[in-house]
Amino acid sequence: MNWKLEVEKILPRVQKPARYAGGELNSVVKDPAGVSLRFAFCFPDLYEVGMSHLGMKILYAQANERPDTWCERVFAPDADMEALMRERGIPLFGLESRDPIREFDLIGFTLQYEMSFTTVLNMLDLAGLPVRSAQRGAAFPLVVAGGPCTCNPEPLADFVDIFVLGEGEEVNPELYDLIIAAKKEGISKGELLRRASLIQGLYVPSLYDVSYKEDGTIAAVTAREGAPARPAKRIIRDMDGVFYPQNFVVPFVEAVHDRAMVEVLRGCIRGCRFCQAGFIYRPFREKSPQVIDRDGRSLCETTGYDEISLSSLSTSDYSRLEELLDKMLPWSEKGSINLSLPSLRIDGFSPKLLEQIAKVRKSGLTFAPEAGTQRMRDVINKNITEEEILSTCRTAFEGGYCAVKLYFMIGLPTETEKDIEGIVDLAQKVVDLFYSLPDRPRGKGVAVTVSLASFVPKPFTPFQYEPQDTEEMLREKQHHMISYVASKSKKIRINYHESKTSHLEAVLARGDRRLCAVVEQAWKNGCRLDGWSEHFDHQRWVDAFAACHVDGGFYANRTRPYDEILPWDHLDYGVTKSFLTRENQKAHCDATTPNCRLQCSGCGANKLLGRACL
Ligand code: SF4
Repeated sequence: MNWKLEVEKILPRVQKPARYAGGELNSVVKDPAGVSLRFAFCFPDLYEVGMSHLGMKILYAQANERPDTWCERVFAPDADMEALMRERGIPLFGLESRDPIREFDLIGFTLQYEMSFTTVLNMLDLAGLPVRSAQRGAAFPLVVAGGPCTCNPEPLADFVDIFVLGEGEEVNPELYDLIIAAKKEGISKGELLRRASLIQGLYVPSLYDVSYKEDGTIAAVTAREGAPARPAKRIIRDMDGVFYPQNFVVPFVEAVHDRAMVEVLRGCIRGCRFCQAGFIYRPFREKSPQVIDRDGRSLCETTGYDEISLSSLSTSDYSRLEELLDKMLPWSEKGSINLSLPSLRIDGFSPKLLEQIAKVRKSGLTFAPEAGTQRMRDVINKNITEEEILSTCRTAFEGGYCAVKLYFMIGLPTETEKDIEGIVDLAQKVVDLFYSLPDRPRGKGVAVTVSLASFVPKPFTPFQYEPQDTEEMLREKQHHMISYVASKSKKIRINYHESKTSHLEAVLARGDRRLCAVVEQAWKNGCRLDGWSEHFDHQRWVDAFAACHVDGGFYANRTRPYDEILPWDHLDYGVTKSFLTRENQKAHCDATTPNCRLQCSGCGANKLLGRACL
């Protein structure tokens, strides 16, 4: 069967055929006969989402820089495309070559969010591969997964051969070398996995046995065949020396973030206690303004983008931000290129910074106070005061802004009704502030949007021990807030995140290997693209839990004692459990921890760096 021809035939029949066409500017095509390794980089979501992802751009370009490797992109097909592929028996293919990915040496997934897990299985199945590693046996391709969700990969342990712990730029080249050498030497897959387990940053789940106590908690995780007892993540030590792409593939279909991006730093100095990214990407490391400026110029030249963003967890924590903007603003203004700073902390908003970004961007502003009362902000270690929030909004309003979006969470540990009402009260203070300003934008009203997410306790955070509110509790809180806001103001709009997906996220984020059966059953029930409300079907998940006799509440709604063996305790992500426990205890005393610049609180991550972070 000529697959390429078959794909050609079905493309006119699907929505957005450009998602599956390949051939974009800067996509890489090589001669398959001239490479030793073919790598299918799979993003378990639609093209528009995957093409916005910086990590994929970096790893795609890095792999393709090697003459011996050809990396292709693969995205999840939407329902219409999937139906046609299944009807015609077309296997999942690489966008660049349209060759079936089951013929490649390596299939790599990036796991950005738990709701993509069933899509991983669906993509393996569409590729024509058994979803379970054991059923794939000695056959290649090797199935690998990286990304933030691999800090607790156990709910996917039965499906993935190797998990990458930490930063792919650092560990992937060693994995490529290993596979190429294994092919040359003709060594078995089992031996390859054993050798992979000895490389720092790779975790081979099949080499670990998990036993359970009668109460359902973990008794022990035991390594076999010489695998390390505690596999550790890998990090980049020199951010200026690390590979960064000098061009991006420019998507045909508009991506969620369709722009150039430069990374300014990794890690976070803040330590907000709910935030997984703030802990798993530690230690804090910055790039120099010269390197960021060079990469930014190159990307704008090679892609033709008229927007570039400075990407990081908290760009205003970049110690040389004003110096960087002084370098980048002249050429970006001259080239009519918008410079955007998506991750600004509310207290990092100096008048000079506002003046600098206001030169190129005057839409809405977004801030994340996360909690409405000072007590709650202290519990979560969001070291921001109400005065700081209001003074930042004042500066913004005086600078011409009149729309503000405020991000909050409900269901946080120790939360009371007062904390919920505090969210609305704070939003109302922002409204009142606007109308009290003599210098406010004339002839315009203010729009304050409150975006509410439900708290999801995550591994490797100080809140990893905390119970999540049940769906009923979260729904009640949402209703209370809506009636409270109705009694207060017409200028505040509330958006909230579906509590059913938040519950599932909590189950999958802190799950163990027994959830593999549930994920597989949910996929068999028809789940895929669960992050999309039009595809998500809660009942299919409920049925999967019931069929597997697994109680989701055991994972989501239970307080975990400090001495319980957690499913991810055998993985070393730098931050120590004793630090996370200390931080949890402080949260319950409403006590804050200063940021890393003010004082190192000994999280343990700097051991990966081999020196002090700052
Ligand atoms: S080791 Fe200290 S400075 Fe480094 S990330 Fe941890 S707390 Fe911050």
